[in-house]
Amino acid sequence: MKDCIFCKIIAGEIPSAKVYEDEEMIVFKDIEPKAKIHLLCVPKDHFALLTEMDEKRAALVARMLRKIADKHAEWGLADGYRLVVNQGENAGQTVHHLHIHVLGGQTLPWD
Ligand code: AMP
Ligand code: ZN
Repeated sequence: MKDCIFCKIIAGEIPSAKVYEDEEMIVFKDIEPKAKIHLLCVPKDHFALLTEMDEKRAALVARMLRKIADKHAEWGLADGYRLVVNQGENAGQTVHHLHIHVLGGQTLPWD
């Protein structure tokens, strides 16, 4: 989608520190990390909210979770990690292209 920063990263128009890519998703380092390790897992299909998921997108999000589970140790997260999906204004969602934050590399504060 035009004017979407994550679509531009997917298209290779903006550089990113990529750790994984396949035909339906990309995983790269967050530019402003909120933990020692902070990755973003992003579907190549542009949609902003979980409410926009049809069955096909739901299956894609499930595969993204599966991929994180498969790769987490490779990404330095063997001791545990946290997933965050910000949805809408109150959550402070700033990029309106669905993404799963993957945080770890340290003990994470809960509050
Ligand atoms: P959210 O607030 O959940 O929408 O998260 C958006 C995240 O995208 C933030 O943590 C930003 O630091 C991150 N971000 C924005 N632009 C870039 C970029 N060009 N490369 C990597 N991460 C980015
Ligand atoms: Zn997008």
